[in-house]
Amino acid sequence: MDFAYDARTEELRAKLLAFMDEHVHPAEAVAEEQRARLASPWDTPPVVEELKAEARRQGLWNLFLPDGEYGAGLTNLQYAPLAEITGRSPHLAPTALNCAAPDTGNMEVLAQFGDEAQKKQWLEPLLAGEIRSAFAMTEPEVASSDATNIETRIRRDGDSYVVDGRKWYISGAMNPDCRIFIVMGKTDPDGPDVRRRQSMILVPRDAPGVEVRRAMRVYGYEDHSHGGHAEVVFDGVRVPASNIIGEEGGGFAIAQARLGPGRIHHCMRLIGMAERAVELMCRRAVSRTAFGKTLAQQGVVQNWIADARVTIEQLRLLVLKTAWLMDTVGNQGAHTEIQAIKIATPRAVVDIIDKAVQAHGAGGVSQDFPLAELWTAARTLKLADGPDEVHQRSLARRELKKYL
Ligand SMILES: Cc1cc2nc3c(=O)[nH]c(=O)nc-3n(C[C@H](O)[C@H](O)[C@H](O)COP(=O)(O)OP(=O)(O)OC[C@H]3O[C@@H](n4cnc5c(N)ncnc54)[C@H](O)[C@@H]3O)c2cc1C
Repeated sequence: MDFAYDARTEELRAKLLAFMDEHVHPAEAVAEEQRARLASPWDTPPVVEELKAEARRQGLWNLFLPDGEYGAGLTNLQYAPLAEITGRSPHLAPTALNCAAPDTGNMEVLAQFGDEAQKKQWLEPLLAGEIRSAFAMTEPEVASSDATNIETRIRRDGDSYVVDGRKWYISGAMNPDCRIFIVMGKTDPDGPDVRRRQSMILVPRDAPGVEVRRAMRVYGYEDHSHGGHAEVVFDGVRVPASNIIGEEGGGFAIAQARLGPGRIHHCMRLIGMAERAVELMCRRAVSRTAFGKTLAQQGVVQNWIADARVTIEQLRLLVLKTAWLMDTVGNQGAHTEIQAIKIATPRAVVDIIDKAVQAHGAGGVSQDFPLAELWTAARTLKLADGPDEVHQRSLARRELKKYL
């Protein structure tokens, strides 16, 4: 195993670090300010479009996509340290580079399973950053961590499919730039193979019967920077039969393929979020004095910093090993490691950010530091893309299999 960054990765890292310092971090406050003046808080602030144009000009574009025909053609091991850097500003940098979830997963699905017409109509504008997209699987009525529970119906009717269902926490869907949904539903609800009952279908946002009903809150807040998390109702939505992705009954397999890279991308960015939290904690600790000593001189704060550094180094190595396995033996071969990082990373990073919040006192929960936003983003990743317990269950079953 060799996780040393190669020349191309080093070159992109240097470029990206400079881009973050010169453009992304200064734009954080600007985006907030602009959002307050937008017609709708869900619109994209103009500074984001400026960042996108600059990133594209610098060749920092679609770095996530290993497919060289459509994306940058980087391996997971090459992309990992770059995604980590974007995690330092998770609400701006991934979007600036056209590397933000859920578009990344949706582009991967279209590149891998879409037909030529679907690629032309939806993948091309997504790759160009002209539109956004959403992935609609989770439903309020059923335990959606078990995808076999999904109740949305996708019914064939002549040359069309008709979609009926209600979804929630559909990320990005509040943003009017989100033009297309990839919807998971059942085409064969009574089929003998539970894993062949679901399909994925493309549903344009402006199709009659699609209603983006409301923004779901996250810990009481509306997550504007992410394009929100919407409740979406599909009421007799008719789309051409050609909108099915791959084949009827292939939804479950596509979902599995989609989630592997998505999960490692989240973990890479989480490490960047943890690095930012440690940096803020250290800066704060050396600059504030309480009871005659700087916070940095307090043993307890030193313990937080040391523990955070040890944890980050451990996590990064595990994430890089997972990336290396995905590159060498494929996503299936890296299955256990993908689950391990998805369990370990959000859990540990939530704790690191929490310590940084504590070191900031009231400032830590305020809008003047990015820590509260970072904490919320990390905490929700214990749920999104599969709750921890589901990954633990699956990992444990694989482990136990050896002894049965
Ligand atoms: C901020 C955010 C963004 C999201 N974005 C999207 C999106 O873009 N698209 C989308 O489709 N979904 C999205 N989701 C939804 C997310 O993927 C689901 O919440 C998740 O899959 C869990 O499904 P559920 O909420 O129905 O929980 P349930 O399935 O009801 O599970 C509830 C809890 O039960 C426990 N549990 C479940 N199964 C087991 C088990 N086998 N063993 C032990 N415990 C178990 C877990 O603790 C779990 O958290 C998002 C969620 C959040 C919070």
